[in-house]
Amino acid sequence: MHYDYLIVGAGLYGAVFAHEMTKAGKKCLCIDKREHIAGNIYTKNWKGINVHWYGAHIFHTSDEEVWDYIRQFAKFNHFVNSPVAVYKDELYNLPFNMNTFSKMWGVRTPAEAKEKIDEQIKDLNIEEPRNLEEQALSLVGRDVYEKLIKGYTEKQWGHDCKDLPSFIIKRLPLRFTYDNNYFKDPYQGIPVGGYTGIVEKLLEGTTLYLNVSYRQFLKDNEEKGAAADSFDKVIYTGMIDEYFDYKLGELEYRSLRFEHELLEGESNYQGNAVINYTEKEIPYTRIIEHKHFEFGSGKDTVITKEYPATWKKGDEPYYPINDDRNNDLYEKYSRLADEEENVIFGGRLGKYRYYDMDKIIREALDLAKDELSYV
Ligand code: UDP
Repeated sequence: MHYDYLIVGAGLYGAVFAHEMTKAGKKCLCIDKREHIAGNIYTKNWKGINVHWYGAHIFHTSDEEVWDYIRQFAKFNHFVNSPVAVYKDELYNLPFNMNTFSKMWGVRTPAEAKEKIDEQIKDLNIEEPRNLEEQALSLVGRDVYEKLIKGYTEKQWGHDCKDLPSFIIKRLPLRFTYDNNYFKDPYQGIPVGGYTGIVEKLLEGTTLYLNVSYRQFLKDNEEKGAAADSFDKVIYTGMIDEYFDYKLGELEYRSLRFEHELLEGESNYQGNAVINYTEKEIPYTRIIEHKHFEFGSGKDTVITKEYPATWKKGDEPYYPINDDRNNDLYEKYSRLADEEENVIFGGRLGKYRYYDMDKIIREALDLAKDELSYV
């Protein structure tokens, strides 16, 4: 069979691209090494609860076109992410806002909170924060940093906060209002019925081979001789360094391990979808109770403990580690990628970027537009 595109990876990026090209009359073949589609946004129905199998995914965006786009494939509910942080026996609201400051210091007004923060940072003399620690300290002061950021961040990334880029902490809003909404974006929600159905719809009309790595696919395909599949272009959403056989060195990733548990007869385990455990001594970073994403009321519940893990070859990569060393190495791979004829790299792993779902959709739509304008 001849295809216009071979798409490696049936995650959100590959699926959006496949959908757009199929709609425009192109033929797409999508392969994935896993036994299921949807990459890390895969949700699995367990006893009527949609379990976010590879960690919590909450859709949020300021991109109106992306918001309209994704809602063609599912209804979104009115879920607003408001995680709670546990530090020893203390509970705090996230993101950092007046509820957090009030609980931490007993203050009531924004002016009191600002005064408290100023008092804690005045001797630090940080003008231009050079790393995550300096960035966090200069934003929220020492107490919030020590209790809610340092332990969580260091276990999440496996690095000292002094060695991490400051942009990671800037993902979180800092507010002097009593607003517990974790995100700044105007649009937010969870797809009713989970994410897998969205990707299923996106891949309608695309030929799909599961359980096959890119390497294995190429090998099997070659062995088919005259019956082999052929394609004009490859869209590669796997790890860019793996594609090039690590020939310039290995990029660093952070991995995760998930422990899913069905609690029969427990209707409400923790009262919130996301609870973060910010002290270093607790080995997991958060516990997710999935039914709360969809306001579930059944008599059972499913929870997931999320453990950060060191990544080594063969493990699942979840996060790129965008420090200087890795970004420089990525730039070198990216130059190799530019020379690779008829192969386009995309997605979190192909671009080695800490992309959220909405950015992935935006990139895939832009690529589809580019590709179609060449024709
Ligand atoms: N973070 C923190 N304490 C928390 C939650 C988050 O210090 O309770 C920091 C931490 O450095 C983390 C970053 O904020 O890596 C971004 O968190 P986010 O929830 O956006 O990460 P994701 O959901 O993508 O893992």
